[in-house]
Formats: sequence, structure tokens, C-alpha cells
Amino acid sequence: MSAPPGRFARHVESLDLRTREYDDTDVAHAVLHPGLDTLPALLSPAALPRIEELAQAARAVTLQRFGRAVRLFAPLYVSNACLSSCTYCGFSKGLDVVRRTLTVDQVVAEAKTLTTQGFRHILLVAGEHRLEVSADYLVACVEALRPFVPSISIETQTWSDDTYLRLVDAGLEGVVHYQETYDRQRYAETHVAGWKRDYDRRLSSTERAAESGVRRLGIGALLGLCADWRSDVLAVAHHATWLQREYWRTEVTVSLPRIKPSASGFQPLIPVTDPEYVQALAALRLAAPEAGIVLSTREPAALRDGLVRIAVTTMSAGSSTEPGGYTTPGEAQEQFAISDDRSPAAVAGMLEGAGYEPVWKDAFPLRGDPIDVEALA
Ligand code: SF4
Repeated sequence: MSAPPGRFARHVESLDLRTREYDDTDVAHAVLHPGLDTLPALLSPAALPRIEELAQAARAVTLQRFGRAVRLFAPLYVSNACLSSCTYCGFSKGLDVVRRTLTVDQVVAEAKTLTTQGFRHILLVAGEHRLEVSADYLVACVEALRPFVPSISIETQTWSDDTYLRLVDAGLEGVVHYQETYDRQRYAETHVAGWKRDYDRRLSSTERAAESGVRRLGIGALLGLCADWRSDVLAVAHHATWLQREYWRTEVTVSLPRIKPSASGFQPLIPVTDPEYVQALAALRLAAPEAGIVLSTREPAALRDGLVRIAVTTMSAGSSTEPGGYTTPGEAQEQFAISDDRSPAAVAGMLEGAGYEPVWKDAFPLRGDPIDVEALA
């Protein structure tokens, strides 16, 4: 049975996310008066000739709101088993790929490798398989990592309020649920079977997580999935702003990954070019100045190095998208190919060289929980 629409779903239905034509006068006005109302002009093709001006304005806002601190995190893939079918994903059910679900001990071993590299923010990632990646399994993973990982987030299937409560009690800090596309029709075309097919359940998941005590929320859209990437960026900006207003104690981050090659063989309807990608992140920064912006290793090193000077506040580094990829690589299918294969130390060095401070760990855990310092050694 489909889930009822959440509160943001009802809100977004009232918005006009269609793109229309803008000219240079509209863009010049939008750069001077950035916000959700003027974001469509900032995202329009008419703004591309002003990309340098946009980037400079975004950089100023990023420095003002976030300073020169860039948080580093690592994804830890615990399973690539999946009962959902998403046409763009290398883990999609039915694809003939090597599947693996880590034991809790193996998850701990992967996390220890990451903490040795310096990471204190770890994102547990899994496909949607409620038997292999059950609520009990995830709670056990969080409990096992909590003594030596100060900040644990999950990017998995959506869960019930009860499960989010259990995970928060176990020490979970963050939940990441990308809507992928906010276009209902395109969502239905690309999420063809399984739990994730339910658009409304997916869209309301961050609301339920926040109401269960999750302190960091991550949202995003997969650019290239919908022909009109601009309307998806607009929807992400509205979503982030709405979440910040409704759950003001909660930190909200946004991400705009672009589709990368995977075992699915999926090709984007209309690829988003590098200049358009810079435009999207700069415009998003201007329209949603309080939202953290996350950039993964999907993007190439040179582009990442440039974007951190414009809008990005959180980066992954040295990532593997394969379960067990940090300790026993090559035993399972990766989700997608990464582009920036520099080590975490090299990415931290790049940040320091550019005058930024790589933040491996916030000064205090958000929930004020005690940390076993000896276990960090
Ligand atoms: S996107 Fe998630 S739910 Fe969809 S096939 Fe991939 S792992 Fe499964």
C-alpha cells in the first residue's frame, strides 16, 4: 500500500517548478537578490554567461556562513543486496552482479580502517533488502561502531518511526534520503519495483527521521535522471529550506550527484555539463545559504577542488562503493565508478593547501554522548 503524502509533498505540489525563459536582466537582478523566488533565473541558461559572477557571489556566502572548514566523511557500504529495481543503479534487483552483505564484525573492521585514515564521520550505505539489512542488523552496526565513531549516519531504505527511534537510541546521528527526482512521472519511470517505488514514502522519510530525533538530514537529487535538471535543483532548494524551517534544531545538507556509469548501463536523458554543474551548486548556495552542500568522489578531482572554493562544505574522500571495499576489495560489485581516487590524506592536503581546514571530527558529538577515547587509538 502506498504511503500518504507527507507535509513537504503537499507543500511542493503548490509550487511551480516549471522552468521558463529568463534574460540577462532577470539574472542580474537575481544575483543581487538571491532567494528561492529568484533561483529559477540563476539556474536558467541565461545565467551561464555570468557563471564567474555567480561563483564569486556563492563563494562569499559560503565563507561568511561556513568559514573555511570542510567536513570529511567516508561512505561504508555494508550491503549491495537489493529488492528494489531502479533503472540507473548498479545494485538493482535482477542485475547479475556479485552481492555481499557484511557481518557486523566486518563492518567494524571496515570502520577501523577508515578511522585509521582519520575519518570520524561515517555513512553506512546499503541497498534495500529488509532481510539482509534489517532494522536489527542496522541497530547492531550502529551499536558496534558507536564506541569509536563519533558521527554515524545511514543511507539505506526508508524506515518506520519506531526504527528511526531505535537507531537514534543506538547512537545514530544522521539520515540521508535522496529523492533522486521530484518529478513524479519520471520517478515512476525509473523506480520500477520495490519499496523505493513509493514516491510519497520516500519524500516523507526525512520528516519522520527528524521527528524521531535524527540530528542531521541529507537530501538530494540525481542530476541527469530527469530531463529538466533545473526543476530538480529548485525542488531540492525548497525542500532544504522547508526542512530547516520545520526542524530548526536539525542540520540539513544537500547533494546533487550526477549519474555515473554503473552495471545498470543507464544513460542520462540529458547530461549535465561541468559549467551547468558549477552553476547548479553556486545557485543552490545563494538560494539556500544555510544548507551544507555535500560533494562525493563521483566528480573528478579538479572539479572538486574548484567547487570547494565556491559552495561545498562536506566531502567524501578515498571512497569505495563496494561492500568490504576498504579491507577486502574486489569481492562484490561496486554501486558506481568514482572519479576522484585520491587518498583521504591527499584530499586533506589539497584543502590545507587551498587555505581550508579539513574537519575530520566536530569539536563535540551532536548528541553529547560520551566517546570511548581509548577505542579511537
Ligand atoms: S538506488 Fe537503492 S533501492 Fe534502488 S536499486 Fe540501487 S540500492 Fe536498490
